[in-house]
Amino acid sequence: MQQRGQDIIYTKQPYIEDVGPRRIKSIQFSTMSASDILKASECQVHLGQYYDSNKKAIVGGLLDTRMGAPNKHGTCQTCGGSFTDCPGHFGYLNLVLPVYNVGYLSTILDILKCICKSCSRVLLDEKLHKKYLKRMRNPRTEPLKKNELMKEIVKKCSSMASSKAVKCLRCGYMNGMVKKAGSVVGIIHDRSKLSDGYLEECKSAIGHTREARAPIGLATYILNPVKVLSLFQRMVEEDCELLYLQDRPEKLIITTVAVPPISIRPSVFTEGSQSNENDITERLKQIIQFNAKLRLELLEGRRTGIKYLVS
Ligand SMILES: [Zn+2]
Ligand SMILES: [Zn+2]
Repeated sequence: MQQRGQDIIYTKQPYIEDVGPRRIKSIQFSTMSASDILKASECQVHLGQYYDSNKKAIVGGLLDTRMGAPNKHGTCQTCGGSFTDCPGHFGYLNLVLPVYNVGYLSTILDILKCICKSCSRVLLDEKLHKKYLKRMRNPRTEPLKKNELMKEIVKKCSSMASSKAVKCLRCGYMNGMVKKAGSVVGIIHDRSKLSDGYLEECKSAIGHTREARAPIGLATYILNPVKVLSLFQRMVEEDCELLYLQDRPEKLIITTVAVPPISIRPSVFTEGSQSNENDITERLKQIIQFNAKLRLELLEGRRTGIKYLVS
């Protein structure tokens, strides 16, 4: 890291490449994947503390000086710049379990409505699959029209699942209806319309247990981000094209959080030894604390963890 700091000259000036005028052909926006965040980061943040007893920023903490100078008195460990010179550098924070990006929950829901919850292939039959793919691949089809086509596919797949369970033509898995969970940020897979006898068999087998009386039983279960992430990772490129996804769908689920440079969330010392932290820093601290609690629960009380992962 030190070596890199010497090779690259960090500056707050905007980067302008002197190559003469150029015509912009297209612009594509995308979310950062976990590996993109790792590439852009200088250090891992895993401690929810700020300073030690000597008012020195803790290594691996939220004010680690590798992300920039914490205040007017410090220097950046990555570029050696002061608070005014250093542009700031990103850090990363690994989550113990993945979470949905709430901003994309409706997109995640739409994709789940269209794919098989076992093999990740789109639930359309071969003929419809080919027909829609041809229209999506047509260079003369306008982006707005492609959006409409995507909505049409979602509508078709959800109407198929609303009346009865849909059997996947590729793996034979019975798919139910996918919908948003009422009170929590979650997605439900309702397989109550399953008619292959399997469900009745399961219900009678657990009839004497407490789970049988629970509102969410065997037929309806929550699709947690761990399951959805593995489904999205297995989606083939052709199906992504069919659903008009510009990028890999697994990017809609967060596994790593980019910790922003200290320069945009400065730490201010008030009278005495107290420091005043930015709201972003405080919120990141909460994430680290919940993360640590969850890790502990997964390690110690395995039952909670297993229940979460299997449900
Ligand atoms: Zn720096
Ligand atoms: Zn399938």
